[in-house]
Amino acid sequence: MKIAIVGAGIVGVTTAYELASDGHEVTVFEQRGAAAEEASFATAGLLAPLALNPWAIPGFGQALRIMGPHPTLRVAGGLSRANLTWLRRWRHVARNQSAPAAVLERLAQYSLTRIHTIATRHELDFEASSGRLVLLRSEQERAALQPALQVLRDAGVPLHEIDADAARVIEPGLSPEAPLAGAIHLPDAGAGNCRLFAQLLRQGTQGSGVHYAFNTRVDRISSNPTGLVVQGESELRRYDAVVLCAGMACAALLPAVGLRLPMTAVHGYSVSAPVRESTHAPCTSVVDIAQQISITRLGQRVRIAGGAEWAGPDAEHHTPTLQRLYRTLNDWFPGGAQLSSGLQIWRGARTMLPDGAPLLGATGLAGLWLNTGHGASGWGLACASARAVADLIAQREPEVNLDGLGMRRF
Ligand SMILES: Cc1cc2nc3c(=O)[nH]c(=O)nc-3n(C[C@H](O)[C@H](O)[C@H](O)COP(=O)(O)OP(=O)(O)OC[C@H]3O[C@@H](n4cnc5c(N)ncnc54)[C@H](O)[C@@H]3O)c2cc1C
Repeated sequence: MKIAIVGAGIVGVTTAYELASDGHEVTVFEQRGAAAEEASFATAGLLAPLALNPWAIPGFGQALRIMGPHPTLRVAGGLSRANLTWLRRWRHVARNQSAPAAVLERLAQYSLTRIHTIATRHELDFEASSGRLVLLRSEQERAALQPALQVLRDAGVPLHEIDADAARVIEPGLSPEAPLAGAIHLPDAGAGNCRLFAQLLRQGTQGSGVHYAFNTRVDRISSNPTGLVVQGESELRRYDAVVLCAGMACAALLPAVGLRLPMTAVHGYSVSAPVRESTHAPCTSVVDIAQQISITRLGQRVRIAGGAEWAGPDAEHHTPTLQRLYRTLNDWFPGGAQLSSGLQIWRGARTMLPDGAPLLGATGLAGLWLNTGHGASGWGLACASARAVADLIAQREPEVNLDGLGMRRF
């Protein structure tokens, strides 16, 4: 088939790879000049398991609070009616623990396996590491995590509840003064550089059935006839299928074909800093569950990520949130990173649906497919989502269960 993909973030690049592997002729339209320039640019790097990752699944981790002295979701410039409705739905899912957590966890495990298969096959060195500590400051935190731990156990994810001494053996750079009550050790948890993986995969697949049209914005999509209109053109370019992997922009493209999605962009931050003293830096990834902040070792850099805000796409960086990231890094790994120069500070959008799950598969309209809405887990789910959507387009049963991830739920 002749297939168009809109968007060359991690989701579009992996989807192109899988569709080309199935023998399709694929064109990826990307408005920016390179792959992974938007949400996939500087993610925290966390792969499976998902349940303990910041903002991955409603009801796990911190509750979404927009009021009070310590809001977990900062709101600047007022609350739109759409965001209020979204918030109510997220809270409802969180309260009832009705997110498809088990399905997501299995999808993430499948994704991790595929990432490593693809990386090995094409010799992609994407600064991968294995193992994670979820740091706990108190026994109450451990108790609050039990539902998430049960999801992980049910999914067969190896985990150990360990004390502070054992945690310090695994991550010797942890400050002896940090208030560590214990940790959850996830020995098989994955992490790696999302943008690097996307770029290496794009380079590797260039010319093998995938054509990338960069600096090419799609203005309109169409079903029946299936195709799209590129900025500056009036003619419809026709395809057998169009797959939307455009992140938050899907919300703007879909109304033209009569579809609306309850998506919102929850922005967050990451700071990447050169390693200063290797023995004081994390070896792999850690998550501060109370702060919903992660610290990940990516090659010779340390990346701290966190923060959640509704402040619009072009808001200025929020200094107190960035200070919180620096403080958390200093609490756990003082001296591990060089914060005086060579920093990369990034603000990016998590495209989130109110149940924390992505939208994968058919739209119900001829030839139009979706692979979007991955929220805080797009890197962790991309390779599995891509394979699953390619299977659905080929009318094959995907290897993983996709219950609750389709359009029908909306
Ligand atoms: C602070 C932070 C930390 C995160 N950490 C993690 C993590 O540790 N693990 C994890 O799994 N996930 C993480 N995420 C989430 C992850 O970043 C996203 O889920 C993922 O990058 C989404 O990928 P995507 O390809 O769908 O979107 P994007 O990367 O945004 O790609 C969409 C692409 O579509 C293009 N596009 C849009 N409209 C058009 C158009 N009309 N025409 C042409 N092109 C168009 C855009 O330019 C863009 O390149 C994090 C997010 C944030 C903000």
